[in-house]
Amino acid sequence: MDSSEKEDPKKSAGAFRAVIHLYVEMTLGSRFLFACALALLAVSLLMYLAFAIAVGKLVDGAIGNHLELDSTEGWMATWGINQWALFLFALVLVNMISSFFETCWFQLIGERAAVELRTQLFDRLMYLPMGFFSMNRAGDLASRVLADVGLLQEGWINDVRNGLSYIAMGLGSVTMLFVISPSLAVFVFLIGFPVIAVSIWFGRKIGADSKRVQDKLGQTSVISEEAIHGIHRVKTFTNEDYENRKFRAALSEYLSLAKRVAINRAGLFSGILFILMSSSVFLMWYGSLQVQQGKLSPGDFTSFMFFLGFLGNAGGLLAQLTGRVHRMTGAAQRVCDLLNEKPEKFTGENTPTERMTGDIEFCDVSFSYPGRAQLSVLNNINLHLKAGECVAIVGPSGAGKSTLTALMFRLFEPSQGILKIDGRNAEEHSLKWLRQQMAMVPQETLLFGGTLEENISYGRPGASRKEIIKAARQANAMEFIERLPDNLDTPAGDRGTQFSGGQRQRIAIARAILRDPAVLVLDEATSSLDTENERLVRDALEGLIQKRTTLVIAHRLSTVRRADKIIVMKEGRIVEQGSHDELYAANGFYRHLCDEQQCLTEDQ
Ligand code: ATP
Repeated sequence: MDSSEKEDPKKSAGAFRAVIHLYVEMTLGSRFLFACALALLAVSLLMYLAFAIAVGKLVDGAIGNHLELDSTEGWMATWGINQWALFLFALVLVNMISSFFETCWFQLIGERAAVELRTQLFDRLMYLPMGFFSMNRAGDLASRVLADVGLLQEGWINDVRNGLSYIAMGLGSVTMLFVISPSLAVFVFLIGFPVIAVSIWFGRKIGADSKRVQDKLGQTSVISEEAIHGIHRVKTFTNEDYENRKFRAALSEYLSLAKRVAINRAGLFSGILFILMSSSVFLMWYGSLQVQQGKLSPGDFTSFMFFLGFLGNAGGLLAQLTGRVHRMTGAAQRVCDLLNEKPEKFTGENTPTERMTGDIEFCDVSFSYPGRAQLSVLNNINLHLKAGECVAIVGPSGAGKSTLTALMFRLFEPSQGILKIDGRNAEEHSLKWLRQQMAMVPQETLLFGGTLEENISYGRPGASRKEIIKAARQANAMEFIERLPDNLDTPAGDRGTQFSGGQRQRIAIARAILRDPAVLVLDEATSSLDTENERLVRDALEGLIQKRTTLVIAHRLSTVRRADKIIVMKEGRIVEQGSHDELYAANGFYRHLCDEQQCLTEDQ
């Protein structure tokens, strides 16, 4: 292991604290059930201890030794082997009943805790700023919500519960060992130290590797998820083999790391097993000697060996746990990192009820995407969109048109300069209110898994069916929806891939119409439509544009000629602005774009 791979003790202590903190949080909701389950766990443990003592009594009873060395007093002193056997059976029965409830309750608490944690994580994810999503891959985030929480849940149900019971069992057994024979117990203690030392040494080694195994697995899940989501792209580029190779390479890295963890873990278990077995031979010899000399009854020696078995079992299982605890700390650290991410200033704010007038002003705004600070995407933008105006933005691909609209929605904050909305710095407005007053019809619309009605009502949750149909009609979407057997109740399918690009775009337009925003952004909104449908949708949009500030992004310049103002962007700067006629006459970059598209020869 190179130095860079070594675990920072401060970091692992932090991760461990994170696990404890998470588990405490996860348990708080089920305090009562947890207390009951713990009480039953204690009952189970007492049953085990009583069992070991009773077996000793049974043995002493069988060889008639209890009269000399047996310490049983009261009515139990007269018990023969039948009574002790019955007592043992009663213990087994009680143990079974308490184990049933205790296991069931711990399982339930774990499930509830995982549901709570997943809800918290998803809630936090929804409110994180766009910059976070630019820098984290969707597959990795989904794996935190599902796989990492799954690991923590498993840890909670099995490892925490087992850890508690092993510790209690270990302590109870140690006490009983000293009560029965202090000299034998001291011997046990002496051999206990090497076992602990070996487990700590191996546990550390396994922990560091396990975290890397977990990270590697996360990477493979990102690759598979991206390939499956983009299966259309994979197939059209015949890149099946390329994706396979990428996935196989990631898996083989995972496998070699996992092999190392497996070897270390096997070394840990076999080492402990060897120490335990070889020392138990010596112990049997020494204990038999004590029985022979009359210092210990055979029954007490039997009980001693039972307790030793319990202790060895608890110790071995605790050592196994250390490896898993390290895996859990990795998962807990990632979950905590996500929970500690700073959300947008969104939740809990009071949302004003008045309508935005739609006056938007960019004052010397420059912007770079988070993670690409050196690359300035927008440079000193000065732009005023007056309320009710329809402004078009044109320019080559990558000029920064979509980025400009992203700033209007405050998906990102300007790196420099001020964005003013209704005359005030956008930061002073409630973020929720600001976004509620805006709507966007994006270049590419993805539908989600619900019905078409649900997809349209996403624009204004709670809208009536009548309003939804009206919006769909205005967007010219009803014409294809009515031809479907289930009409608006047709499921959109996986991301809406069962619908054409143009149909999805009309659904997105219907969503925007339903929202009735003060500011509307049309980002290439009619790009997927044929000429006939584009004309119909444009008519609908024209009605929509009348009552609000509209920003239209278009590559086809013929579609923006009726805008009040055209902004021409190039390499993150506004290079020209004015009406179509002014810009055309100026014979600049806009004229060059127009000529390139031969828009005039087509339209005039
Ligand atoms: P198009 O007409 O092709 O949609 P555009 O003019 O809308 O292009 P933008 O999408 O705003 O251009 O992109 C402007 C620049 O910002 C591009 O260089 C792009 O690579 C970069 N960019 C866009 N989104 C991100 C992001 N999330 N993170 C980092 N860089 C980005």
